[in-house]
Amino acid sequence: MGTVVQQTVYAPDQETAQAFSAQAMELLWGLEQKEISWRLDTSEVYRANVTSGSEGGFLLSEELAGLLELSRRSEGAFDMTLGSVTRLWNIDEWAAENGAEGFPIPSREELARALSVCGYEKLRLQREAGDQEEKGQCRLFLPEGMQLDLGAIGKGLGLSELTSMLEGQNAVTGAVISLGGSILTYGSKPDGSTWKVGIIDPFDKSSNIGILSLEGQWCVSTSGDYERYVEVDGVRYHHILDPKTGTPAVSDVRGVTVLLKDGLLSDGLSTACFILGPEKGMALAAEYGAEALFILSDGEVVLSEGMEQYYTAIR
Ligand code: AMP
Ligand code: MG
Repeated sequence: MGTVVQQTVYAPDQETAQAFSAQAMELLWGLEQKEISWRLDTSEVYRANVTSGSEGGFLLSEELAGLLELSRRSEGAFDMTLGSVTRLWNIDEWAAENGAEGFPIPSREELARALSVCGYEKLRLQREAGDQEEKGQCRLFLPEGMQLDLGAIGKGLGLSELTSMLEGQNAVTGAVISLGGSILTYGSKPDGSTWKVGIIDPFDKSSNIGILSLEGQWCVSTSGDYERYVEVDGVRYHHILDPKTGTPAVSDVRGVTVLLKDGLLSDGLSTACFILGPEKGMALAAEYGAEALFILSDGEVVLSEGMEQYYTAIR
């Protein structure tokens, strides 16, 4: 996933904690290989992408089907069909390699061409008959050239699966697992104190702007223009794209943090909320019962009402 995994695990003994932690890493490696990496031919996304333009389509997992609903509800701000455009920019890779020198900014024509095969509304869904229908599965048909990109929810899916893993055992009594900007809290600490999750200051990434104090299981997902970007001539090309233009989303938001029990949705929502901005973003978060925190370009912090009980500003 191109990120650092940090785990704090509480269990009766060191061995149990370590065994869990190794199992968690295995789950994450497996997830990347089996579901989310568009580069690996073993993944669900890869297999979906090769069916692009085919008549057979692709049998969609329930998780992905739920994300189509998020596209609809966010008026297309969250769109997992942007693969051709994200690959054209390739910002994640340029940002990781720390290079702005020689960064190729796509031309209008290139962007228009790539955008012409994007758009969740161009996906065709067909309910599967028989057993499949009972499971709520459906077949997805990608038009020719369309490529899925699950970059916006990969870590969230990881958090969701780690949550299930934690809930299915009873040796580990508390854990905090961080996948880059996406964080899972579970259970409790032996001393009974709350989990503390720092909110990064987009204006100074080395410090926190505030802290969330949480009890039990939560997923905290953050999207920001400071996470992965390439700066050229004073212009910041970040990794969250506006599906309407195919270019890095221009908004008055620097960062959004979404708090929800469900990791997949909190991750999808944080991306959508960044693009939608505080007003529409707050309304969308509320539809999903999520709490949200927006850090605006002028430094103002806007919280949903329910977020106030968890948040403490540092300055
Ligand atoms: P996040 O950091 O969770 O907000 O996810 C950003 C990643 O999601 C990018 O690196 C892209 O792979 C992908 N992405 C960019 N823009 C969008 C969008 N509008 N909708 C869905 N995925 C996107
Ligand atoms: Mg996200």
